[in-house]
Amino acid sequence: MKYRLTRKQKKMLIRIIVAGSLCGLIALITRLLEIEGIIKLLLFLIPYVIVGYDVLRTAGKNIIHGQVFDERFLMAIATIGAFATGEYPEATAVMLFYQVGELFQSIAVGRSRKSIAGLMDIRPDHAVVIRDGQELEVSPDEVSKGEIILIRPGEKIPLDGVIIEGNTTINTSALTGESMPCDSVEGDKVISGTLNLTGLIKVRTESEFAQSTVSRILELVENSSEKKAKVENFITKFARWYTPCVVIGAVLLAVVPPLFIDISSWEEWSKWIGRALVFLVVSCPCALVVSIPLSFFGGIGGASREGILIKGANYMESLSKIDTVVFDKTGTLTKGKFIVDDIHPSQVSVDLLLDIASVAESYSSHPVAESIINAHNGHIDKNRLGKVEEIAGRGIKAEVDGEVYYVGNGKLMEDIGSDWHECHLQGTIIHISKGAEYLGHIVINDEIKSDSKDAIGDLKAIGVKKTVMLTGDKKAVADHVGEVLGLDEIHSELLPADKVARVEELLKTSGTLAFVGDGINDAPVLTRADIGIAMGAMGSDAAIESADVVLMDDKPSKIALAIRTARRTMRIVWENIIFALGVKALILILGALGIAGMWLAVFGDVGVLVIAILNSMRALRRLDR
Ligand code: ADP
Ligand code: MG
Repeated sequence: MKYRLTRKQKKMLIRIIVAGSLCGLIALITRLLEIEGIIKLLLFLIPYVIVGYDVLRTAGKNIIHGQVFDERFLMAIATIGAFATGEYPEATAVMLFYQVGELFQSIAVGRSRKSIAGLMDIRPDHAVVIRDGQELEVSPDEVSKGEIILIRPGEKIPLDGVIIEGNTTINTSALTGESMPCDSVEGDKVISGTLNLTGLIKVRTESEFAQSTVSRILELVENSSEKKAKVENFITKFARWYTPCVVIGAVLLAVVPPLFIDISSWEEWSKWIGRALVFLVVSCPCALVVSIPLSFFGGIGGASREGILIKGANYMESLSKIDTVVFDKTGTLTKGKFIVDDIHPSQVSVDLLLDIASVAESYSSHPVAESIINAHNGHIDKNRLGKVEEIAGRGIKAEVDGEVYYVGNGKLMEDIGSDWHECHLQGTIIHISKGAEYLGHIVINDEIKSDSKDAIGDLKAIGVKKTVMLTGDKKAVADHVGEVLGLDEIHSELLPADKVARVEELLKTSGTLAFVGDGINDAPVLTRADIGIAMGAMGSDAAIESADVVLMDDKPSKIALAIRTARRTMRIVWENIIFALGVKALILILGALGIAGMWLAVFGDVGVLVIAILNSMRALRRLDR
């Protein structure tokens, strides 16, 4: 991605080039012609003022406001001090390089902002809405829920909705990082922020712009910098102490030794003042203060390019430490799209059993309910349904045609004292009982996601110690899935509250625990875990809200990728901390001893800043799979 300099940056660049060449020229001339004293000083003051007048001006303003620890003020003092001790070229160079560092920093921040804005280039700028038969181009936030919008090939989908006319292929890569386009036909959902590739479609909107997927994601990414990581807070605190300490050190260094050695010699004074100036130049913690948020920003941006949304730097930190991953089964490791395999009625006909179950489930959005409704290929008359009650983790109690029916698992049958029996087939069994009178069961099966096995393998490969599956489904099904995938622990037949209890137990023995769910009835566990990861967020509100990390597509294999991205980001952050502090400490020591001069000090300030920023830019890069 190309970055264009702003006008301010261009102006600065020109000042740096002019001052830099002048400085070089003057250095040459003064040496050749052996110019010394006041003329040399005046000559060097020219490039110094050209490149540093704004620093001097701000420094002047700040001293009036008593901000003595402001970096520009410190730079001004350091350079003026260097002039006073006769180090004219050094003084000019410090100012010059200081400005180079500032310019570099502003370019780096701008570039990474822009590249994230580019990644997040999903904000639609208009919508074509059909009102009274007329096509009207409006801003997306002027479209209300339930209106019909028209999307041409090549346009971004502005709002979430359902296709009511036409079919097309859609590129979701801006949201999911997945480059494979997907076919969509009438009746399919479309998600705002994705790209309509081939066909003209009419869509009925299902939310307003402010509630649409694209708005939520943008909001999430924009707010992510507010949640600071622990290291970030530490550095902020550290910076607050570092600068005053170094400045006090500088003052002591300039004043105390000459008092003891030779109070009357200007030579002695100027030697120690020179050493103190080295302190002032490295007193700025900007390398850390700038590069660390930049690293997190880059890491979060890079991850979002993969369809992994991390809600803050603090979560980046936790992600990097995960040693236990707990999965929900349905919808997370399995597709959550059950297919009815068999219907075994006990007393009634196959059709009647399916009919009753379908009516009972007709308002439920549970994957089990959807499968039963899908299997029923006639009209479902919802008016036949009376009072309904969903019993989480068990099933449903519903009044159909005035009679009370129970549809659910074996536990539910036990609860109501039905004379039920198990089924010999493999799968999730949904039993139906009219009061306590058993009517039979429906066998449904769910498919394991194609990348679930790799997902578990990848986690093991990157050193995650324990993988666990929790499910409300029955033991036989759970054990089968667990075995195929190679999970370490399987807990089945759990109610939603049991899942929380299990996670709490696991929390006791694990370092950092992640819970991965699909957002359907697992919000309590998502919040209880150290870090909640929700997947399949394309269009699911619950997931985006309650999780700390959101995987836009349905792929559990993105978890390992998220952990690796987080680890790399943390590594970069620590590299910068150790490098910057190490170099500064070294220069302070050498400076005090009189070994490091102004030139090394400039490196300790600007050089470290530039290297730290360059290093933090690596966080933005894509990891290979
Ligand atoms: P999971 O932990 O796999 O996400 P749930 O806790 O949502 O599963 O449900 C656990 C079990 O409860 C299901 O496997 C099913 O047997 C039963 N169940 C839940 N909701 C319903 C429903 N609406 N209709 C029938 N059975 C249901
Ligand atoms: Mg579930």
